[in-house]
Amino acid sequence: FFVLGLGYGAQVTTLVRFSAQASELGHAARVVRELKAAEELPEGDAPADPGDGSVEFVDVSFRYPGATRAALHGVSFRADPGTVTALVGPSGAGKSTVAQLVCRFFDVDSGAVRVGGSDVRALPFAELMERVSFVLQETFLFDDSIDANLRLARPEAGTDEVEAACRAAQAHDFITALPEGYATRIGEHGARLSGGQRQRLSIARALLKDAQIIVLDEATAFIDPENEVATQAAIDELVRGRTVIMIAHRLSTVVGADQILVIDDGQVTERGRHAELLGRDGRYAQMWQAFESAEQIALGRAVHDGTV
Ligand code: ADP
Ligand code: MG
Repeated sequence: FFVLGLGYGAQVTTLVRFSAQASELGHAARVVRELKAAEELPEGDAPADPGDGSVEFVDVSFRYPGATRAALHGVSFRADPGTVTALVGPSGAGKSTVAQLVCRFFDVDSGAVRVGGSDVRALPFAELMERVSFVLQETFLFDDSIDANLRLARPEAGTDEVEAACRAAQAHDFITALPEGYATRIGEHGARLSGGQRQRLSIARALLKDAQIIVLDEATAFIDPENEVATQAAIDELVRGRTVIMIAHRLSTVVGADQILVIDDGQVTERGRHAELLGRDGRYAQMWQAFESAEQIALGRAVHDGTV
């Protein structure tokens, strides 16, 4: 069977469950059904309620199964509907863990994660999937056609809708340039595409799904100058009008955020808007200085090389 053959760990099988959406159709639902048996997290049965698009962490502590140290301790924040919350901080601080808990890949040890006002443990998986779209560092694509990969988000989407999502995600042009266009098989994990193309395909899928809440763990590994502009345009399109939890690796993308959370060693150590945090002269201000001088150096090099 096409997904089980990939040898994913438990975490990624959960990803599959969420990517597959609340569909009764095709591969996606079959995967969901097969994996449900292996699921350890009990599904909630709260009545369907669209919620308000907010995300809230209430004093959340969490330790990965088998880990000796907690990845998060006492994390609290609220992301209001339609706002952008950016998480920044050093590697290993717990940013991706926050992203994963919004999608309930794991359950918290204490505290609560609320999506649209409901504790994620109280929601049916299908309901949570309906509310949250995620574009994570590890893009998970299946060895199937581009079209099938996109439709995992919404099997009933019309061809025109699929295409519109791909245009908005700056993916349509590279797709139509492939020998079989939307019918092209992309290989295991999307191996036949470049990193930037895989990411834009994930963004197209999230756009097609049209959820209220977007969790975006920006992938730096894929950023090359050629892809950067296109990927940024795709992200801008995706986040418009939605609640966004964004893990940004380039500080330039967080300047406009409604709220920036500095995460350090599993805790929120600073919070505020860009200008406020700069004025505070703390960790964020330090990070910003380092970022600016790195940019200066890069610019200096480009000028020297004659590429600017
Ligand atoms: P960040 O995204 O800020 O770089 P992470 O949220 O990925 O940080 O990681 C936070 C901490 O949790 C780190 O100490 C990391 O080693 C640990 N961690 C992350 N994923 C796992 C996992 N699947 N199992 C055990 N520990 C993990
Ligand atoms: Mg991370």
